[in-house]
Amino acid sequence: MPKTFLIDTTRCTACRGCQVACKEWKNLPAVPTKQTGTHQNPPDLTHFNLKLVRFSEHVEKNGKVSWYFFPDQCRHCLEAPCKQASSVEGAIIQDEATGAVIYTEKTAQEDFDVIRGACPYDIPRQNPENKRIVKCDMCSDRLKAGMLPMCVKSCAMGAMTFGERAEVMDLAQKRLAEVKKTKPKAQLLNPDDLAVIFLVEDDPKKYHEFAVAQAPALLTRKQMLAGAFSPLRRLARAMQG
Ligand code: SF4
Ligand code: SF4
Ligand code: SF4
Repeated sequence: MPKTFLIDTTRCTACRGCQVACKEWKNLPAVPTKQTGTHQNPPDLTHFNLKLVRFSEHVEKNGKVSWYFFPDQCRHCLEAPCKQASSVEGAIIQDEATGAVIYTEKTAQEDFDVIRGACPYDIPRQNPENKRIVKCDMCSDRLKAGMLPMCVKSCAMGAMTFGERAEVMDLAQKRLAEVKKTKPKAQLLNPDDLAVIFLVEDDPKKYHEFAVAQAPALLTRKQMLAGAFSPLRRLARAMQG
């Protein structure tokens, strides 16, 4: 049974502690960035930023300003489209014990556009120097040592939970029921397909374009022949009712 995250955005204050903790644990260097008129910084995920707290501001019909926080990262898809699109043996693997989708040094031999294009959440990034494709690895080194992922450990607001899938799913449903009492639009995002489940209280599009699965930019011949991409197929089926 894979491990699972619950990221409860209703508890997130956009403190960015998780973003910084990820960077520190992964020993990723600081990079020049720029202020783009929003609290979100850097503006997007990069090969040195595997976790990014996205920040959106919306003016509602009544003139009130609402803020939406979304601590973005790889969803560790249960049937990962990026892995299905891989053409290099051993470049993208899935750890049996945890379900973590892990990119190895062999990703340098992959076609980056194909791998990024296959991801419904636009997560993979490439290091331009060594050509390796990178993303969150579920802090596999910490899991092996019996520790929580660094981002989960760092969240003082208790917005992130990590553990056995059945227990986290149970908690997610209970928390959803609680939030729905005051926020009827609350929902879990693609919970049946992912090991990183977000709870949001409003339209997911208000949080981030890729908060829910988007159609892949590139669907490879290999994927089409395999009839792969089950997360999107399930989503399409659900929308058809
Ligand atoms: Fe949100 Fe917790 Fe991350 Fe802070 S550490 S940005 S509260 S998820
Ligand atoms: Fe791969 Fe994207 Fe799924 Fe992560 S979210 S496992 S990068 S397809
Ligand atoms: Fe970063 Fe580890 Fe959290 Fe992934 S699980 S976002 S690598 S801190």
